[in-house]
Amino acid sequence: MLKNSNYIQMCHYCVNSIAQETGEHEVHKEDCKHSPNMVFKKYLGYFSNCSIAIEEAKKIYPKSKGCKYCCGVTMLVETKKLV
Ligand SMILES: [Zn+2]
Repeated sequence: MLKNSNYIQMCHYCVNSIAQETGEHEVHKEDCKHSPNMVFKKYLGYFSNCSIAIEEAKKIYPKSKGCKYCCGVTMLVETKKLV
């Protein structure tokens, strides 16, 4: 049982090169069902959590956020976004 939240699961992350209607670019885990078509995916790297992946995505697209399905935890990151 891997229910320990401290368990680090490294994952490949990518960002959608097409912005959402809100102007934000969604960050997904490589295997997320909601990740965009291959053509619109920009590979970010192999990270231990989505917060790091989102920070990385922000270097490309300042308005990036985690997908609510695969990066649900990142709601925390969103709260510190600049107004
Ligand atoms: Zn996703």
